[in-house]
Amino acid sequence: MNMLYFDNNATTRVLPEVVEAMLPWFCEQYGNPSSSHPFGENAKQALIKARAVVAGFLNASPGEIIFTSGATESSHMAILGALAIKPQRKRIVTSAVEHSATLRLLTHLATDGIEVVQVPVSASGTLDMAALRAAVTEDTALVTLMHANNETGIIFPVAEAAAIAKAQGALFHTDAAQTAGKITLDCKQLDCDLLSFSGHKLHAPKGTGVLFVRKGIALPPMFYGHQERNRRGGTENLAGIIGLATACRMAQEYLAQADKRRGALRDLLEAQLQERLPFIRINGSGPRVPNTSSIRFAGLHGEELLHRLGQAGVMASQGSACTAGGTEPSHVLLAMGLDRDEALSTVRFSLSRETTEADIDLAVITVTEIIKAMTGGLPAAA
Ligand code: PLP
Repeated sequence: MNMLYFDNNATTRVLPEVVEAMLPWFCEQYGNPSSSHPFGENAKQALIKARAVVAGFLNASPGEIIFTSGATESSHMAILGALAIKPQRKRIVTSAVEHSATLRLLTHLATDGIEVVQVPVSASGTLDMAALRAAVTEDTALVTLMHANNETGIIFPVAEAAAIAKAQGALFHTDAAQTAGKITLDCKQLDCDLLSFSGHKLHAPKGTGVLFVRKGIALPPMFYGHQERNRRGGTENLAGIIGLATACRMAQEYLAQADKRRGALRDLLEAQLQERLPFIRINGSGPRVPNTSSIRFAGLHGEELLHRLGQAGVMASQGSACTAGGTEPSHVLLAMGLDRDEALSTVRFSLSRETTEADIDLAVITVTEIIKAMTGGLPAAA
């Protein structure tokens, strides 16, 4: 059976070129970048090169890049660091649709005297900018917003939000876990102070990530040690970092070709499904990352649909992977005004740049046949 992978917002396949770039750093060049012998020196030089590549990927300077284990760690560093930098300010502004990596930390901080304000989104999933403006006050330490939503792909106007934060003297962090590798990231244009992403969402290995910290921001470490210029202690995951840098370089080359293929394929998937199954609805409208489609199969159970799809070789997801298997509806879809049943009838398809038109055709046929089997050939409730 042909397995079709449509869960690239959860994680991606590590590209063979990435693995190849990593391999020498396991068994041949296994030195510690902090050692002064030739192996250590080679490792140090490789680390310098990797940092320059990742800086180029973000239009940042190498000194602004901290290598971490992933977006969760980077976001934690950004949020906890911002509170430490601005100890007089006890307010954090975020959105109602952030990833649980952010929301869970903020829920914890709220029990510790930090006022957390969640800005709502509209029915289309876009951020309520008037509410954001009203929420950011002089006692706000940080505004933290995702760049794109992991479930709907909706992109938030980060530069505009950063300007609102800065006008009140607050720091601004963006969680770019779902935009890195999908659209061009330019930290200067985004005007963010802090930006996080994970390698495994853009074809690098799991356990790799980046925190961009704008020059001049003295972010305190979460792990103490001399590495990463005292900002993130612990022996560097050199092979992982080289894999991450290789994946960033490849993504940058891909994006530079202005290839709209993925957007076109996502649109093709939606158009073909809508043609065969007119009752379905797309969750979210407005600017979206080009690989994500959140589809509501009204009247059906998304979890059952996913199960049947999986058995037929189509791997998709119901919202974020972290809630998969649970019967709780997605907080993102509820925040957009969907009711419980509507949210639970949703399936997310997320493509990668490896997805082909043939994959789309096969997925559309499979979904249509399964829906027919689930509804006895009858159209489901609109
Ligand atoms: N932020 C967003 C928007 C995500 O989609 C994810 C992962 O799904 C994360 C943060 C957390 O990333 P990781 O689990 O790689 O740390």
